[in-house]
Amino acid sequence: MNSTRVFIDGHWASPTSGEILDMVAPSTGEKIGTIARGAAADIDMAVKAARRAFEGPWGQMAAVDRGRLLSRLGQKILEHEDELTALEALDTGKALKLARNDIKAVARYFEFYGGAADKLHGETIPFLNGYQVMILREPRGVTGHIIPWNYPAQMFGRTLGPALAAGNAAVLKPAEEACLSCIRLTELAAEVGFPDGAINLVPGLGEEAGAALSSHPDIDLISFTGSPEVGVLIQKAAAENHVPCVLELGGKSPQIVFADADHGKAIETIVAALVQNTGQTCSAGSRVLIERSIYDQFMTQLSRRFKNLRAGPHQMDLDCGPVISKVQQERVLGFLERARADNIEIAAQGEVHAGASDGGYFVPPTLFRLVPRDHELAREEVFGPVLAAIPFDDEADAIRLANGTDFGLIAGVWTDSGARQMRMAKAIRAGQVYINGYGAGGGIELPFGGFKKSGHGREKGFEALREFTVAKTVVFNHG
Ligand code: ADP
Repeated sequence: MNSTRVFIDGHWASPTSGEILDMVAPSTGEKIGTIARGAAADIDMAVKAARRAFEGPWGQMAAVDRGRLLSRLGQKILEHEDELTALEALDTGKALKLARNDIKAVARYFEFYGGAADKLHGETIPFLNGYQVMILREPRGVTGHIIPWNYPAQMFGRTLGPALAAGNAAVLKPAEEACLSCIRLTELAAEVGFPDGAINLVPGLGEEAGAALSSHPDIDLISFTGSPEVGVLIQKAAAENHVPCVLELGGKSPQIVFADADHGKAIETIVAALVQNTGQTCSAGSRVLIERSIYDQFMTQLSRRFKNLRAGPHQMDLDCGPVISKVQQERVLGFLERARADNIEIAAQGEVHAGASDGGYFVPPTLFRLVPRDHELAREEVFGPVLAAIPFDDEADAIRLANGTDFGLIAGVWTDSGARQMRMAKAIRAGQVYINGYGAGGGIELPFGGFKKSGHGREKGFEALREFTVAKTVVFNHG
């Protein structure tokens, strides 16, 4: 594997600096390899290669042929499913079954967008007599992609799938904490025959390679998923060059349970949507809002389920793996300690498996009861297996509470009342609202993105193709 190289203009090469970065397995804390420490010079070469590709063979390729390449990559990923699953689990610490889902999902992204490439239709507009107006949907040009470490493989497909389908040439900067699957996926993309420069990959540090990409003057759009703080830096850098951004910045998504809901079904989904990827999911349902009349009874059931949760190394395939790094472990444990200091009661706590390595970054899955509405556990993204339970009085209170954070990514509403389902769906300010269900991750067909500090722009589905294209109005005066 070309793990210490950058991929620019169809070739693997050492980064200009010649430097490398160590990669560590979260399950053990041990070194598992090295990656290239790409920086500004590599980013500049990658952007230039992408520009040449966009103005050359890639830009001139028919949509149907672009689509075929994407579909072929999807197929190739499935042929390497076991290998990619093992690599993703080792690199991120996620349980094998989740890593396998992620690999199936990245294949599906390329299949979906491969099929969509030649279905991006424009429009015509009725205008004055003697005129014909058409709207062309054109690719943006060169797109920059900066992705996080929580779902490296899925993010690769989620961001590159629509960008390439729409005809853009891309430069991807994966996260320094976990990016081995992105390197392998790029190798597979090279094998299926994308023209040189259509896909470029520059691993490296955020403040070096990432900053160089977001501030590059020859980028036409930046797509970023990560923290709100870095989202601000990206937008400021892009603003200097008047470059638009698509930003997905996380959430504090509520699961809202009314008395008339199917409690058993709700509990299974609420637990799964929180512990999935050890809580390190932007759309994790990290607040459970429970109608006061059923609060005690529901919490008893939820606590029983929570107590049985187990965290352990990725190969054990338990409910949770480790979190990604020592820094992240300390951050999550910091939330637990401050909650204890603030006398917030733990309703239930799972266990770290006795066989887990002391060097791994484990955190016990934890459910807090009666979390005050203004406490950080109720408002801030923990990005760990920590669930905050909060009672509400009535529908109006539930809406106030659901919308009462800086975020607005997704929400789950659990109720049997059809009218209430519709009222809640309309009142909640979030990019996705699930009724009697929840969909953290996956859902390739479903437009996804934030309100408020969760970001702006939409990914997934056909909406992503809109983001990666721009409308051009052509007016014919034919008399
Ligand atoms: P997290 O807190 O989840 O690690 P970050 O926002 O720090 O999320 O990282 C997400 C992605 O942004 C990573 O690829 C990281 O390298 C990149 N990144 C971090 N800092 C910067 C920066 N200053 N400019 C551009 N990219 C950055």
